[in-house]
Amino acid sequence: TLAATDVAAWIRRACALVTEQADYLTALDAAIGDADHGANMKRGLTAAVEALGAEPDSPAAVLKQTAMALISKVGGAAGPLYGTFFLRMSTACAKHETIDTAALVDAVEAGIGGIVQRGNAEAGDKTMLDAWYPALEALRADTDGAFAAAVNAAADAAAAGRDATEPMLAKKGRASYLGERSVGHIDPGAASTALIMRALADVVS
Ligand code: ADP
Ligand code: MG
Ligand code: MG
Repeated sequence: TLAATDVAAWIRRACALVTEQADYLTALDAAIGDADHGANMKRGLTAAVEALGAEPDSPAAVLKQTAMALISKVGGAAGPLYGTFFLRMSTACAKHETIDTAALVDAVEAGIGGIVQRGNAEAGDKTMLDAWYPALEALRADTDGAFAAAVNAAADAAAAGRDATEPMLAKKGRASYLGERSVGHIDPGAASTALIMRALADVVS
């Protein structure tokens, strides 16, 4: 399970991974977008880490602070989408002192619902959703198993989802302006989502 301190550790780890991989995320975005995704995410998660208190109140409070930092600092398409994701996650676990697998399923599902509501994308449109949906499915398939195993399976599924965006034709976001030329490149947002899920697996293992 995740206590408030674990959720804070998740955000710190996500910031570390995204910072480490910022050039990679930007290179992906250079191919089919405007070459800012790494810088955007690094800036947003750095602000989210700065917003973390020494002793976080609750998982929901950490998630909400993170959402606010992402909304105000990331900009572009990804800022409001990730911001909404974390905000919906926060609302979904408002009553939980700790998040178990079932609560995480509900929270990720709520987060995805927010991304869909804001961005109107579907599975297969070559967006971050193509990493989030497989992650959710893996979590759901593993609700009876150990928490760390479920999260690890979800991180693996998100990475596979990221890779599966390569042959897709982009239907949403900047990459969709390229039409057929978007084919053959991994979606940057799917790649950042895979890092965010890997970060969670790292802190629970
Ligand atoms: P921008 O395209 O404004 O520069 P970023 O480069 O930070 O923003 O983020 C781009 C990513 O946002 C894409 O790779 C994609 O995963 C995601 N994205 C864009 N539009 C949508 C959408 N409508 N629904 C879901 N994700 C989207
Ligand atoms: Mg961009
Ligand atoms: Mg941009």
